[in-house]
Amino acid sequence: MSYDRVEVPAEGERITLADADGDELDVPEKPIVPIIYGDGVGTDVGPAAQRVLTSAAEVTGRGIEWMRVYAGASARERYDENLPEDTLEAFRDFKVGIKGPLTTPVGAGYRSLNVALRQQLDLYANVRPTYYIDGMPSPVADPTEMDMVGFRENTEDVYAGVEWEAGTEEVEQVREFVAEEMGFGESIHDGPVGIGVKPISEFGTKRLVRRAIDYALERNREKVTLVHKGNIMKFTEGAFRDWGYEVAREEYGDEVITEDTLWNEQDGEAPGETVVVDDRIADNMLQQLLTRTSQYDVLAMPNLNGDYLSDSAGAQIGGLGIAPGANMGDGRFVAEPVHGSAPKYEGQDKVNPTAMILSGRIMLEHLGWHDASNLVYNAVEEAILDKRLTYDIERQIDDAERVATSEFADILIENIESQA
Ligand code: NAP
Repeated sequence: MSYDRVEVPAEGERITLADADGDELDVPEKPIVPIIYGDGVGTDVGPAAQRVLTSAAEVTGRGIEWMRVYAGASARERYDENLPEDTLEAFRDFKVGIKGPLTTPVGAGYRSLNVALRQQLDLYANVRPTYYIDGMPSPVADPTEMDMVGFRENTEDVYAGVEWEAGTEEVEQVREFVAEEMGFGESIHDGPVGIGVKPISEFGTKRLVRRAIDYALERNREKVTLVHKGNIMKFTEGAFRDWGYEVAREEYGDEVITEDTLWNEQDGEAPGETVVVDDRIADNMLQQLLTRTSQYDVLAMPNLNGDYLSDSAGAQIGGLGIAPGANMGDGRFVAEPVHGSAPKYEGQDKVNPTAMILSGRIMLEHLGWHDASNLVYNAVEEAILDKRLTYDIERQIDDAERVATSEFADILIENIESQA
């Protein structure tokens, strides 16, 4: 593979797929890993995460050969385009990478680069583990109950981006079709209107739910909950639930039990070695995650539900500064924090790099480097217990010492090295 405008590191080796469907990787001791720092605070958290992850790899006798690639503001500066083909190709070619946040203008301007990247690489599952780290301040009474992994569909629903602007010829054509031919005249008010279409497919749903169930089985999780708004949107969100149950019933034999065949919530525990698949309506789910946190384990969600739920769940365990994520497709993986580019803090060496670092930790797990992943987790926990924290956490803890983004990374590196 040749790259026009970015340099492939001279050292380091490629990660390759060990099987055709990309479930297993062959990972060299020093893989080449593409990284986008990102916009706004990405320029602060990107380098911090890079240093911490390098340290964890080196302390465990390995290495990471980073390959800087560009998107958003950094790509516009260099190449006068938002998402260069070299960047997409690097993520395809090297299989595993990490990115910081990218800014998306609201209401006008270019479409989301995050969405474009996820769609073009077919990273169909956005995975967001949400767990409590000892010592972290939280707005809820018992944050230790939170140990949930969200699987958010990443290519359709609102991410399909099928919508038309009020006042355009296109929206009037759609209005006419929907009103006259489809018989929904009463459903759209007169005057200017924006119209969107929400596709949810059997293909998109089933591959997402399959990933969530596989994950639950591999990690000995007890339950996968399908989160939908099928009471109102019967043929999209309702279909998500139905296709989700179909996967559970038809593809897993005795390994999976669905709620309607056995599960009784009041009984508490899932029976034996099986995973239970059940479902919740999204609005109920948002309050249940607060009031019955410990009952939720793995969630499988259409795009928009997954967005709301994972930010809200992130707030329960310390906020966006620490909430990690990763995008997964067949044989492709791009780690990415939940938070955005927080432009008001750009370049101030102020924000919390933990979300990006813990996203990198998911990447280490994906590489099978569990020892390195544990080092990172322990280092973060130690820093929190020592109360040496960036502003977002420091402001919630009495007697804490406020440190900069780069200082926090230094502390984590010390904590990692001291575990060697
Ligand atoms: P945001 O960038 O996530 O920031 C919202 C608030 O969350 C910040 O003001 C800050 O709260 C807190 N926060 C975020 N990251 C933090 C960190 N690392 N450490 C500490 N606190 C942090 O959300 P937004 O302002 O709605 O979005 C800004 C831009 O990011 C938009 O263009 C949006 O489209 C984009 N975005 C990108 C992604 C992505 O790349 N995947 C995801 C979401 C949003 P306080 O002000 O209270 O300190």
